[in-house]
Amino acid sequence: MAKAAGTCRLPIGEALELDPGQDLFARESIEHLVKRYGSPLFIIDAERVRAQYRRLAAALPNVDLYYALKPLPHASVIRTLRDEGAYFDLATNGEVALVERLGVAADRCIHTHPIKRDGDIRTALDYGVTRFVADNPDELRKFVKYRRRASLLIRVSFRSPEAVCDLSKKFGCAPEAVADLLALAAELGIRIEGLSFHVGSQSAGSAMLVHAVGVCRELMRSAASKGQPLTTLDIGGGFPVDYAQASLPIEEFCAPIRAALASMEPGVRVIAEPGRYIAAPAAIAVSSVMGRALRDGRWWYYLDDGLYGSYSGQMYDHARYPVAALKPAGETFPSVLAGPTCDSIDVINEDLELPKLEVGDLVVGRAMGAYTWASASDFNFFPRATVLALDRGHLMQDGRQP
Ligand SMILES: *Cc1c(COP(=O)(O)O)cnc(C)c1O
Repeated sequence: MAKAAGTCRLPIGEALELDPGQDLFARESIEHLVKRYGSPLFIIDAERVRAQYRRLAAALPNVDLYYALKPLPHASVIRTLRDEGAYFDLATNGEVALVERLGVAADRCIHTHPIKRDGDIRTALDYGVTRFVADNPDELRKFVKYRRRASLLIRVSFRSPEAVCDLSKKFGCAPEAVADLLALAAELGIRIEGLSFHVGSQSAGSAMLVHAVGVCRELMRSAASKGQPLTTLDIGGGFPVDYAQASLPIEEFCAPIRAALASMEPGVRVIAEPGRYIAAPAAIAVSSVMGRALRDGRWWYYLDDGLYGSYSGQMYDHARYPVAALKPAGETFPSVLAGPTCDSIDVINEDLELPKLEVGDLVVGRAMGAYTWASASDFNFFPRATVLALDRGHLMQDGRQP
């Protein structure tokens, strides 16, 4: 199927694409969808979005989950989570516009970018979002003129060398700086509702999260004793998923966090901002072989998607996705999977054992929902993969990308 970048129009809702009981990520389903929509595809399964959300909610009872849009800001994901009763974590005007278009109630959203322009604050306020994040005196002062309409969480930094992506280097104040920020806020008449942190994405274990909860509990006690009670603790994201390397099952990861949260003062509302955990397992990337060459004893397969496209997370997110040929492996050979562009960095994996592939054969990357399509480009004018979002066999794409 021929298509030009960004102009692909898909029939919406009407077509029953697949048997509703059929696993969308199984071989027959993938072959059916490629036959119909061409390659490359980025396939989102709403049922898996739902399953991830429910599993995390069960592992963290009494914690309200705000889906962070950043890893996969796609309408289908937001719609699915909206209907599950989720909350949303926004950071940009584009994200505000997306949830607004989808009719998400503004009081179910928080704005968590620690550094904002006045126009960013105003855009979120105009929509009706009233809770923001700040981590320094200059940012606090930006809220003086909005003090009657907005309240803040103070973002605290906890460095996490063991997380794949340390998110406490660029943002957050030292725990020792919280008292001064609270005092400044009181002086400026700005309401501080609580504390937040993000220990880093794809955390190996929950020790740093547990430590952060403990430190915040003490900071909140100390604030209360000075007459500034804080009522919200935001424990951020970071919940890990299985890639080429397995992670801790989420129940095991969350058990120590639950124990730590049990010692919070009663009346404190605890929220979290999961992104990756909900999005990653919910999408796969399907590409096809454009051409091949035998170089130095290895088969090089050139795919129609690569590091500048859906596999961009290998660069930006340091992820290694489970990637394999769709056809059953018989005899295998040392193989290389490369992307389509003329850049030599555009190689997905140089060290794979694959069956001998022909032009047109399909290759599937799994656990590819988070930080992949979101950061893909059309470098060299290879268009980004066509997004197909399906819910129990139905196409739920709304015809726009996203
Ligand atoms: C990116 C981000 C998240 C999501 O983090 P994950 O590790 O994907 O769960 C949550 N909150 C903030 C503030 C973020 O920047």
